Amino acid sequence: MTEATLIDGKAMAAELAGTIESEAEQLTAKGHQPGLAVVIVGEHPASQVYVRNKQRTAEKCGFRSVKHAVPEKVEEKELLDLIETLNADESIHGILVQLPLPAHLDERRITQSIRPDKDVDGFHFVNIGKLTAGQTDDAFVPCTPAGCMLMIEKQLGADLSGKHAVVIGRSNIVGKPMASLLLQANATVTVCHSRTADLPSVARSADILVAAVGRPQMVGADWIKPGAVVIDVGINRIDVEGEDRTRLVGDVDFDAARQVAGAITPVPGGVGPMTIAMLMSNTLRAARFAAS
Ligand code: NAD
Repeated sequence: MTEATLIDGKAMAAELAGTIESEAEQLTAKGHQPGLAVVIVGEHPASQVYVRNKQRTAEKCGFRSVKHAVPEKVEEKELLDLIETLNADESIHGILVQLPLPAHLDERRITQSIRPDKDVDGFHFVNIGKLTAGQTDDAFVPCTPAGCMLMIEKQLGADLSGKHAVVIGRSNIVGKPMASLLLQANATVTVCHSRTADLPSVARSADILVAAVGRPQMVGADWIKPGAVVIDVGINRIDVEGEDRTRLVGDVDFDAARQVAGAITPVPGGVGPMTIAMLMSNTLRAARFAAS
């Protein structure tokens, strides 16, 4: 049996970053350098890595990149004041507050305090509403599902008429916006979650299977319809058997799934880099809107 095509998110993201860089250069030459502010609260180790990667990519794209590292015990009012200052700062076009936040902070209040036109994560209710209503021309779409859509489009084209897409996971940042985007592309969409009965057989009916759960290698080869496009959003750290180290795996059992799927994203090197590229794309768009 032939192995599935590897959907190389790293290469796609690098290509996208090249285009973004040249567009950013043109905006900067006209006095509108795109600006991204990243706010990180506390010392969460994975968040530190994500923020570093985002900043590095922003700099590579020629953006003004600002990081605000806030102590773990920050009072909510202080954080809201910082966001207010960034909302008013004309040199900043995109604001991102790295999640998760410490338990004493109201995540919803914080994300909703970012101006919708600077909400490059696409978490503001205005942007969620526009996405759900199919009005994406002036909305910011959450970066992870937006990146997944580009990878699906690369395999199947922009019109998914007649295709059955199954999304496993119903979070506000991945599962739900992913379902909205697939629906907008004319796919027939099923959203599954922890209460779904007989998940493997639902998954097996998918032409497009998106796994966004957070359970290492949950999706086995017998969950996959031969030839399906499989997008693995999961990022899970597991122990390497018999060795004193860990490694990253997705929600899909990659080696097994690759024997059945038509195309598949690896972890790492799939959805992760595309998520960062889409953050840059959203920031560039925000800067373009502000300049027009
Ligand atoms: P989440 O915890 O908010 O949501 C998980 C979803 O999975 C929930 O809707 C839940 O109902 C469902 N679920 C849990 N157990 C299940 C089960 N046994 N069967 C079926 N469904 C089940 O997570 P999230 O924020 O959506 O993230 C999901 C995964 O994607 C995580 O591994 C996360 O690290 C990863 N992630 C990756 C990126 C990226 O850039 N690659 C971005 C965001 C999230």
